[in-house]
Amino acid sequence: MAGEPQADCLFCKIVSGDVPATVVRETETTVAFRDINPQAPTHILVIPKVHHPDAAALAAAEPAILADVVREAGEVAREEKVDGTGYRIVFNTGSGAGQTVFHAHAHVLGGRGLQWPPG
Ligand code: 5GP
Ligand code: ZN
Repeated sequence: MAGEPQADCLFCKIVSGDVPATVVRETETTVAFRDINPQAPTHILVIPKVHHPDAAALAAAEPAILADVVREAGEVAREEKVDGTGYRIVFNTGSGAGQTVFHAHAHVLGGRGLQWPPG
């Protein structure tokens, strides 16, 4: 069923605690943890606890939880003190755009200059 944990999903395993992660924030609906391969001084992933393959699918099925993810991204930026200088919230969607984990997640990137367009 849509939203149910998937046995082969890395981020479902982080939600359940089967795979360890450096968690920085947790709510009833979301978990935020440090990316294992950071691309900026601040690089944190915010994920919904429910499983949907990407942000658009999450928005279609459970829009309030996508809003929770984005709000948490803002809270992470505030706690990491990158809100003043600016930060980026990225949802890579599809393998051609670099998505490698097919459980919706927001990258929160900050603490260095960020180019636009991103490349
Ligand atoms: P994507 O490429 O799908 O947009 O982002 C997946 C992100 O998950 C990548 O930035 C990658 O470094 C991160 N990642 C992959 N495996 C792990 C893991 O086991 N733990 C953590 N904390 N991050 C991971
Ligand atoms: Zn999942």
